[in-house]
Amino acid sequence: MKVTTDKLNSNLVKDVEEISGQKVSACFQCGKCTGGCPVVWAMDVFPHQVLRYAQMGLVDELLHSKTLWICASCQTCDSRCPRGVDIPKVIEALRLTIIREKGGNYLHPKDLPARVRENAPQQGLVSAFRKYAK
Ligand code: SF4
Ligand code: SF4
Repeated sequence: MKVTTDKLNSNLVKDVEEISGQKVSACFQCGKCTGGCPVVWAMDVFPHQVLRYAQMGLVDELLHSKTLWICASCQTCDSRCPRGVDIPKVIEALRLTIIREKGGNYLHPKDLPARVRENAPQQGLVSAFRKYAK
């Protein structure tokens, strides 16, 4: 893994900070987020490492990480963070970055059972169309 000034000044890092509203440089790598994450066992990049990679501009490595799609946005990590970093927002910003780069939706409404279409909250449906592959 190579860190270069290009990576450190990457627009993607700035985009992630802008989308998430979080200052990734605030993280001082205490690891409390990772210590509390209930699904850390399934992650290939741990929550504190997500912040470290973002600080180092290693966005490509993050964008290919399974962690982004495993995080359940449960917010356990940000409730433990002594620096007030909202980690799920950073992870969501990384997901959005991928979605924007790829463009388009992954699911079509007709792919969902009628019961789900009728009862699921609209916001959840729109989010699912964008995020989840078939
Ligand atoms: S929000 Fe995501 S990273 Fe944070 S504790 Fe929950 S599952 Fe883990
Ligand atoms: S808890 Fe906060 S300060 Fe500590 S490693 Fe996680 S994001 Fe960084």
